[in-house]
Amino acid sequence: MAATLIDGRAVARSLKEELSVRASEMIARGVMPHLAVVLVGENPASQVYVRNKENACVKAGIRSTVIRLAEDCAQQELEDVVASLNADGGVHGILVQLPLPGHLDEARVLRMIDPNKDVDGFHAMNSGRLMNGQPGFVPCTPLGVMKLLEAYDIPVRGKHAVVIGRSNIVGKPMAMLLLAADATVTICHSRTQNLAEITRQADILVAAVGRADFVTGDMVKPGAVVIDVGINRVEGKLVGDVDFESVSAVAGYLTPVPGGVGQMTIAMLLANTLDAAGGRGE
Ligand code: NAD
Repeated sequence: MAATLIDGRAVARSLKEELSVRASEMIARGVMPHLAVVLVGENPASQVYVRNKENACVKAGIRSTVIRLAEDCAQQELEDVVASLNADGGVHGILVQLPLPGHLDEARVLRMIDPNKDVDGFHAMNSGRLMNGQPGFVPCTPLGVMKLLEAYDIPVRGKHAVVIGRSNIVGKPMAMLLLAADATVTICHSRTQNLAEITRQADILVAAVGRADFVTGDMVKPGAVVIDVGINRVEGKLVGDVDFESVSAVAGYLTPVPGGVGQMTIAMLLANTLDAAGGRGE
């Protein structure tokens, strides 16, 4: 039987509607939620991501400001921008679009962002809060995955969740969120041996690898929930990390690419920005 497709577009749409109601209530109370995005250089993918974030903010009634810096900007110039956004009481969320050009110290810049404005959830303070089970900002993509599971009433407690990928942006926070939801979690990565043996044990399998068609049907337990986080461009087409044809024949649920997880990431950014404007973490 073919897998049920998880419609990230529909879930994101209804979340965004709720968020725009929340934004207008805030504005009525005299708080204009405001996200500042810092974009360095001309990376074409980053330009698209930033434009999408801007558009989503405008649609939701959230103010968005994009600060554009030249490709060859100095570390100090970037840090000065972050410092001034930290100090600006009218800015609630700060996001530095990654990747930064190679000459810039990314980790240092992320460390500088006020943790209470860190709507991407990449600051060590927020990863620490996630690790300790305290409230804080959670990276948008894994948070979006949890919302998708919730929207489809997919039980997580006691299930075996296998996450492929251990990045700070997706894999690790994903594993922490699944653990917090009482899953038994296994994290796999580029040095994992006998990967397919492990993935075949997964009730919930999350692929965050960055390799097209990496997960195939023979790696999936029949009926499993398969979440495809990957975004890969193959011959101009967007594809995930999951081989749709073979996996959709085995899995119980599957997120398509596009139209799955990607749609949720921006919705969660808006949610985090409203949380920041409402005083989350203070
Ligand atoms: P990354 O490159 O930082 O991490 C990839 C991970 O895959 C690594 O931890 C690595 O250990 C693991 N890996 C690589 N080869 C492997 C192998 N052969 N076997 C097992 N594991 C292997 O990437 P990332 O930032 O975590 O992103 C992962 C994917 O998710 C990318 O395609 C990215 O574009 C996508 N992504 C999507 C969204 C979204 O909104 N949908 C957001 C962020 C990232």
